[in-house]
Amino acid sequence: MILVLVEHEGGRPIRSSLEALTFARALGGSAEGAVAASAAAAIGTAASGSGTLEAVLFGRGATDVAGQLGAFGVGRAHVVEIPEVDDYAPAAWGRALAQLAEAGRCDAVIAAGTERGNEVMAYAGAMTGAAMAANCIEARPGNPWTVTRQRWGGSLLEEARLAGPSPRLLTVAEHVVAPEEAATAVSVEVSMYSPTLADGDLRTRVVGRVPRAPGSVALSDARVVVGGGRGVGSAGGFEPLEELATLLGGTVGVSRVVTSAGWRPHTEQVGQTGARIAPDLYIACGISGAIQHIVGCKASKAILAINTDAEAPIMARASYAVIGDLHTVLPAINDEIRRRIGSV
Ligand code: FAD
Repeated sequence: MILVLVEHEGGRPIRSSLEALTFARALGGSAEGAVAASAAAAIGTAASGSGTLEAVLFGRGATDVAGQLGAFGVGRAHVVEIPEVDDYAPAAWGRALAQLAEAGRCDAVIAAGTERGNEVMAYAGAMTGAAMAANCIEARPGNPWTVTRQRWGGSLLEEARLAGPSPRLLTVAEHVVAPEEAATAVSVEVSMYSPTLADGDLRTRVVGRVPRAPGSVALSDARVVVGGGRGVGSAGGFEPLEELATLLGGTVGVSRVVTSAGWRPHTEQVGQTGARIAPDLYIACGISGAIQHIVGCKASKAILAINTDAEAPIMARASYAVIGDLHTVLPAINDEIRRRIGSV
């Protein structure tokens, strides 16, 4: 049995968790027992939702989300109830995963390679003594299991062997496998689970949230991201980027220079120490393209770079480029879009 931690937001599983489910389904259902994440989508559609795939969910709204997972081949979903926690608490989540894995005699526990996925699985590893491998792109069961995983933000790949007893704890690198529903949906049996917590498991927990502005698009889900870097020049300089994002139904992302300067919040940072994004279009304005930034945006289907420097490293990644001052180029693009949609 493979157990997958499913994170959710706004009443839906997050995309990275659907990627992890696709990876796990292929892993559980493949005859050879070996699956490359890049091939998981193809294999996953052929794999049966054979009841070997289970999910675990936490927090408000988990039961409703659990009911949606049959489409991804999940036969059983455990909704964890912890009276003191209706949001995130990493050690308590790790404890629940560890206990569920032990009770279900899991072969593997899999989560998305998100900040939370990696953090919770690290706790589960410490609690069970099982080996944990973060940001995997491929897994080969055997004795021992071998995995290929991303290191240094994806700039190198490492092959690792997971020694020790079951379960194997893996997180799946974000955006390396497309989320795919199972060929045949299964019905999900949803059950409640109450872990036995230890002292200190609730020491760190989310106690409140600041809601996102109504109508705004989450960075991780956005189809278009308008990125701004040092070249934007100031907090006020983001106005045309915001306008372009609104016109295209997208959102704004930024480089670390921008968050360090206090021009924009860290929640908007793209990169190794920020969000990993996978939009259809990333418009990188005044961003040089440092490797730590590229790590976060390289899954974009297309990159349009707007930069005064034709030699900036971002050009090597860009599908399209405009060499020019973003303060001139962006207003011109916005004017043209508004003209075309007839709002001028
Ligand atoms: P710069 O590198 O200074 O580039 C500015 C660009 O703007 C230049 O290419 C310039 O030609 C262009 N420009 C200037 N004026 C204009 C104009 N008027 N019009 C058009 N173009 C203009 N960075 C991240 O972004 N995300 C991360 O998660 C991250 N994590 C890091 C983790 C570590 C451990 C370390 C060491 C660094 C990390 N960094 C991260 C920082 C990273 O190395 C770079 O310093 C940063 O990405 C550079 O930001 P930038 O492109 O905005 O600025």
